Amino acid sequence: MKTIFFTPGPTQLYPTVKNHIKKALGQNIPSLSHRGDKFMNIYKTTTESLKQLLDIPHSYQIFFLSSSLEAMERIIENTVKKYSFHLVNGAFSKKFFQTAQQLKKIPEKIEVALGRGFDMKKITVPARSELVCLTHNETSSGVSLPLSDINKLKSRFPNHLYALDIVSSAPYPKINFANFDLAFFSVQKGFGLPAGLAVLIVSPKALKKGVNSTSYHSFISLSEKAKIYQTPETPNVLNIYLLGKVAQDMLKKGIKKIRKETEEKAKLIYDFFETDKRFGPFIQEKRFRSLTTIAINVKDSQKILKHLSQAGIIVGKGYGEFKTKQIRIANFPSHQIEDVKKLLATIG
Ligand SMILES: *Cc1c(COP(=O)(O)O)cnc(C)c1O
Repeated sequence: MKTIFFTPGPTQLYPTVKNHIKKALGQNIPSLSHRGDKFMNIYKTTTESLKQLLDIPHSYQIFFLSSSLEAMERIIENTVKKYSFHLVNGAFSKKFFQTAQQLKKIPEKIEVALGRGFDMKKITVPARSELVCLTHNETSSGVSLPLSDINKLKSRFPNHLYALDIVSSAPYPKINFANFDLAFFSVQKGFGLPAGLAVLIVSPKALKKGVNSTSYHSFISLSEKAKIYQTPETPNVLNIYLLGKVAQDMLKKGIKKIRKETEEKAKLIYDFFETDKRFGPFIQEKRFRSLTTIAINVKDSQKILKHLSQAGIIVGKGYGEFKTKQIRIANFPSHQIEDVKKLLATIG
């Protein structure tokens, strides 16, 4: 029986990945030297494909890290001397805040309950803040912050650096990078790849901030190496290769089509759970509902998880205190519309 993973990450592999892995093994990609021409070509192709797919300005640099938690740490380390400012509404935005605490900075926050978004009009970014940290899609609750709201915040407080966690929404959101100096994602979510690689996008302004960091992944050393299409350490060469291939597949398909399909599948899912009395979307305010990680209130998540898994369908449990009271359904480009229909029919 075919198994389909609707888990928020790791998740269903993008449909072309198996074939790309076979080809990569045929070409000895995992054995290539990370100082050689072949790897440098892979680095170049992958970063250029990502820039095209996500409309990232030419002047921005792309760094490869091991995880998004690492991205949070490197961002704070390299751009904050003292004060960061965080919008916290769930586990991952909280993690960003706690990372700053662990690094002995002075993070400040506006916090709302799990399942809530922010009224950006009421938010004041303190003048001393060097960096504003935002989580576009809070995977723990299924809340997504409308980019138009974030863009307005930026226009009211334009002088700070802005960092955006797009881990569980990319490549869906159409981001205006003029408003963001830092953005990051891991590949095991929206790109449908094996875990163990994260992408950090950095503006010239953020690079220049250059708070001294001594890590082997300081922006200075990452940037020096990126200029010659290399990394300071021995990286996840296979995954960097696969990411380039999947980005190219997505470009061939067309990002507009991917966005439209994401919206169509999300509508199927929300419509189904809204009309069925046994369930209901967790997020009450429609404008904050995530299209890519959808949280649904249920009576007994274990029963549903078991029923679905017997049909080869794996969905996520609820987060934290909602473990038994919710299920979470990922809606990434790797999820086909017929798989979504099968999921809904199986719930019945
Ligand atoms: C999964 C996730 C992370 C952490 O990603 P790792 O690859 O496990 O480091 C961070 N932020 C969000 C919103 C996530 O969904």
